[in-house]
Amino acid sequence: MSKTKYIFVTGGVTSSLGKGIISSSIAKLLVARGFSVTIQKLDPYINIDPGTLNPYEHGECFVTDDGAETDLDLGHYERFSNMPTSQANNVTTGVIYQSVITKERKGEYLGETVQVIPHITDEIKYRIKLLANRGNYDFIITEIGGTVGDIESLPFIEAVRQLRWELGKNCVVVHLTLVPYLAAAGELKTKPTQHSVKTLLESGVQPDIIVCRTEKHLSEGIRNKIALFCNVTPSCVIECIDADTIYDVPILMHKENLDLEILKSTQMPCDKEPDLRDWEKFIYTLKHPSGEVSIGLIGKYVELKDAYKSITESFIHAGTANEVRVKLQTFHSEFINDSNVKEKLGNLDGILVAPGFGERGIEGKITAIRFAREHKIPFFGICLGMQCAVIEFGRNILGLKGAHSTEFDKSTHYPVIDMMEMQKKISGLGGTMRLGAYPCRLSPGSRLVEIYQAETISERHRHRYEFNNEYLELYRNGGMIPVGLNEKDNLIEIIELKGHPWFIGVQFLPEFKSTVAHPHPLFVSFVKAAKENHNK
Ligand code: GLN
Repeated sequence: MSKTKYIFVTGGVTSSLGKGIISSSIAKLLVARGFSVTIQKLDPYINIDPGTLNPYEHGECFVTDDGAETDLDLGHYERFSNMPTSQANNVTTGVIYQSVITKERKGEYLGETVQVIPHITDEIKYRIKLLANRGNYDFIITEIGGTVGDIESLPFIEAVRQLRWELGKNCVVVHLTLVPYLAAAGELKTKPTQHSVKTLLESGVQPDIIVCRTEKHLSEGIRNKIALFCNVTPSCVIECIDADTIYDVPILMHKENLDLEILKSTQMPCDKEPDLRDWEKFIYTLKHPSGEVSIGLIGKYVELKDAYKSITESFIHAGTANEVRVKLQTFHSEFINDSNVKEKLGNLDGILVAPGFGERGIEGKITAIRFAREHKIPFFGICLGMQCAVIEFGRNILGLKGAHSTEFDKSTHYPVIDMMEMQKKISGLGGTMRLGAYPCRLSPGSRLVEIYQAETISERHRHRYEFNNEYLELYRNGGMIPVGLNEKDNLIEIIELKGHPWFIGVQFLPEFKSTVAHPHPLFVSFVKAAKENHNK
């Protein structure tokens, strides 16, 4: 039997209880005890990946180094555990079925009837164990998306049931539920938790640990009641009270002994307490900033809480590194124009124009960038934000009237942003962009080298369009300087504006690499510039 221990995290009662944060917190605590850990997310939907889902459906699409377009929970995993994830860390029903059907078409099932059990469940189990074969992990945490009782989650829960038998003590099931507070009755209610565990039991899975999301502390009586009705010891009823910040959760879970119960359950020996000193220092600084900066986030999905998740979190890391609170103010780019830009953005210490796709709101982004450029407000353009900065500079400084990206205007006279030749041949959607990590060489002596403290960096991408090199000399001579280059394909990855306190546009998505342990250097530098601007 392999020495890897498997932790399954399921959820009941309702979605949005924070399974991703609980899974990430477990990972953090185990890493802090010196274990090697990885986390994966199994998503019950039929899309192959969230790459083709719009942000209204699914929030941000997180990108891994190996170019997987994944669930945003993988972002939490990386930010908490400081370990990179990969394609194998996010598996959907679509991936499972696609792979089973491909095998069926090749005749690999030798004439058998292909069924949910065992073929689909075998494929799920194979994907869960795949990670163990890839790395030498002590723990694999598998978060099952959705809520128990959902029709589409059933094959995943069945795979967990089978694995429990196969793995015995090498496996533990953590079930996250809700213990709601009924204000009218003045009481916490355990019934939804009881029902949720019963639903799991109907599928043959007995949870070992029950994590109870709650807005009030659980009394001993409530803990005992949940333990009694759900067949666990009271010490395995873990309170998960609403926290000020998601970064409190590992600490709260440690206080509740969640990590200890997992070690006991899986019979994993460990005499070391987790080393949480850096984490605690981070939280202390986060909660005791010495100042505040206002940063404007300009995008077209700003009304969605999760659409720019990694950017929001990167600012929390970078703010803490600068000992300031970053007050992120969001602006819908569609509603920014020449007559209101000053009133809307005039008081900001820094302006970030977000990544995105499609034409809606583009002119507002360009207006915001012009304002930041002319008023010397620190400006950070990410992916589409960088492309808009190039368009703005072309139109307003280089005199390229109507300059545009061919994503939005195919017949522009000045296609300053254009599709790469290799992209033009692609017709399918999913997984066809320039995806994942690419190396980038920073111009020696540039401010970028100072920011990164390196000359070659690696950053993650997710886009189809690029800076059009036909305009390179014109831009360079005009003062918009390319300072980062993908040497292999000769692609401009970073531009910087001369004579501006901080004006940087990047073709990649730096927010995917910011973690609590390693706040991203560009965000840290940008917040520092915003702080200096604020203090002026
Ligand atoms: N829509 C642009 C492109 O495809 C930018 C993408 C992005 O911001 N991630 O190139």
